[in-house]
Amino acid sequence: MTNLIEIEGVSHAYQTASGPLPVLDGLTLSVPEGRFCAVVGPSGCGKSTLTRLIAGLMFPDRGEVRLNGEVVRSPRKSVGMAFQNPVLLEWRTILNNVILPLEIVAPRMPRSQREDRARELLALVGLEGFEDKRPSELSGGMRQRASLCRSLVHKPDILILDEPFGALDAFTREDLWQLMHRLRAEEPFTALLITHDLRESVYLADQVVVLSGRPARTQFVLDLDLPGPRPIEMLYTTQSVEWLAQLRAQIEIAQGRSDTGGHAR
Ligand code: ADP
Ligand code: MG
Repeated sequence: MTNLIEIEGVSHAYQTASGPLPVLDGLTLSVPEGRFCAVVGPSGCGKSTLTRLIAGLMFPDRGEVRLNGEVVRSPRKSVGMAFQNPVLLEWRTILNNVILPLEIVAPRMPRSQREDRARELLALVGLEGFEDKRPSELSGGMRQRASLCRSLVHKPDILILDEPFGALDAFTREDLWQLMHRLRAEEPFTALLITHDLRESVYLADQVVVLSGRPARTQFVLDLDLPGPRPIEMLYTTQSVEWLAQLRAQIEIAQGRSDTGGHAR
């Protein structure tokens, strides 16, 4: 299996008023094509920084970020992103919010084709009939579903999810986890999910990477060998409970090592 995402020995520091703040320190991580990788680590350790480096919105001081074997030197169109805040534009309908990336990356695609693609995704996430609503007319969970459609509308190779379910209530969150598995079955993306929720990582991912405290490096990688469908009940199996305990222990080590003392933000 080829690695679609390869991060090799990446170090990065932000320049701040009080001097350089090292955020990533020789971080190495790879995600094979079609796999779902979850990244967990203490608050402020550099997870969002990592997503910006993969998307080509920033470049590392040292080391390389390669997508499909090519070093990232500019922003990537083949990346879709979704965040904790769905950031939908209130003056656009849900359909027109979902279409937005196509207006940018495929300006010559006919309007009807863009709409068909957006409608197909909205139906897949259960938002059929809400195409003409405004974001404020939808619940938080529905807005996040629309935001996922927008991140996938241009068929990105890579889907980056930065804590997209963090602000939702527990039941809505579980619905969206199940939705992620349905989306995965239909859309051919490779995913990198940043999360604070260990259950979420075990339910969704093929591979969970635990980052150390800042400056982050890869501390631990858990490979989950779980072919086939994943009913939510899989979280209660002996195997999952063991995985969760292993991850919990690693997080404690990471927080202990963090130069923020584990109490960041
Ligand atoms: P995480 O997503 O793991 O919580 P971030 O990658 O957002 O962490 O940030 C890592 C550290 O870098 C934090 O201490 C944060 O305050 C700092 N940081 C993030 N962005 C900037 C920036 N543009 N300039 C200076 N410091 C930043
Ligand atoms: Mg973050």
